[in-house]
Amino acid sequence: MPAPAPTPADSAGFPGFPRVRGHRDAQDALARALARGQLHHALVLVGPRGVGKATFARGLACALLCPERPGQGCGACTTCQRVLAGNHPDVDWLLPDGKAGTISVEAARACHVRQAHAPYEGKAYVVIVDPADALGEGAGNALLKTIEEPRPGIHFVLLTTNLQGMLPTILSRALPIRLGRLDDTIVGEILHTRAPDVPPDRRDMAVLLAEGSAGVAVELASDPSLERCVELLRQALTAVQQGPRAIFSGDQSPRWTAWSAAVGAGEAEPPPEPDPEPPPTPIATGKKKVAAKPKKPDGDAKKKDAPAAQRSAVRRLTELWILHVREQIRGRAGLSGVPRSHIAASPAQQVATIAALQQLEARIERMGNVRLTLEQTLLDLSRPAHP
Ligand SMILES: [Zn+2]
Repeated sequence: MPAPAPTPADSAGFPGFPRVRGHRDAQDALARALARGQLHHALVLVGPRGVGKATFARGLACALLCPERPGQGCGACTTCQRVLAGNHPDVDWLLPDGKAGTISVEAARACHVRQAHAPYEGKAYVVIVDPADALGEGAGNALLKTIEEPRPGIHFVLLTTNLQGMLPTILSRALPIRLGRLDDTIVGEILHTRAPDVPPDRRDMAVLLAEGSAGVAVELASDPSLERCVELLRQALTAVQQGPRAIFSGDQSPRWTAWSAAVGAGEAEPPPEPDPEPPPTPIATGKKKVAAKPKKPDGDAKKKDAPAAQRSAVRRLTELWILHVREQIRGRAGLSGVPRSHIAASPAQQVATIAALQQLEARIERMGNVRLTLEQTLLDLSRPAHP
């Protein structure tokens, strides 16, 4: 954005968009653009999952519509509250409503029709596309004209974790705004607000694992598989220490009891983009019923998909293990309740352990026999030849 240096006139006293935490540079840049009346009509908020892209889009919509504090949003007036609750007529959400997790052409066309009559109450009409990479060719084409030649007051906010996944025709007409990872302090505060009952130990672990994603931290803190995967990590460390006999110790051993428990609690698919705010109402197509956020994996299908649950358990195990070793490299104790490993005694050994785990992580999706691959990695880590 060709923004000049901030001047006291347009950035002084700006507390941030309602409910938005972190992302101060992006907030300031957009608030300055709003103050000058030069906000780009199509923004792409790009950043890792769970850093608050949807929350940011809501906050920005408040800034565009709020009559009390125009250009910033007060968060308290009726307009802001309706925007934040997802039921303001001048804020429409384009969400995946098709079987393949894509945004339907009907929904995109309905949006095109609605924008022609908008705004309905305020002075702007905001279309939030979540996620933008769910826009296929057909739906994208239905929106393209609106994005190419926008009427005054029409704004698009497209959310994505991956610019490469977006249609080039849409991306070329939009301004990307990068939302990076949040500070652990902010993640911890958000987690404390949204999940106040989570014990401190578990909260700390969730913050560490979430790597700057508040949504992921909230998800982890309430994930029953986390404890089981921590137990699997304890058992894996013991097995590596004791060698091949412990690694190939049979289904009744503590190792594989922990494995079964972790796999039983695992999730078949990576969870959807976490968004703890109230679900927005998707745009009505008038043609068929549109589900609110049909991203949740099917419970029954999940149970039947054993290899996927095994991959999920290994993915979580490697995440926890790498985090555990990294914490030790930083001179800390590692994860609470997990023993230090003899194989991670020197920095070189610790780095080699992380490399071996990263190799395992990279192979997860291609694993035929997941448990055997894990056993081989444990065996490699237990060998004296391991540096
Ligand atoms: Zn307001």
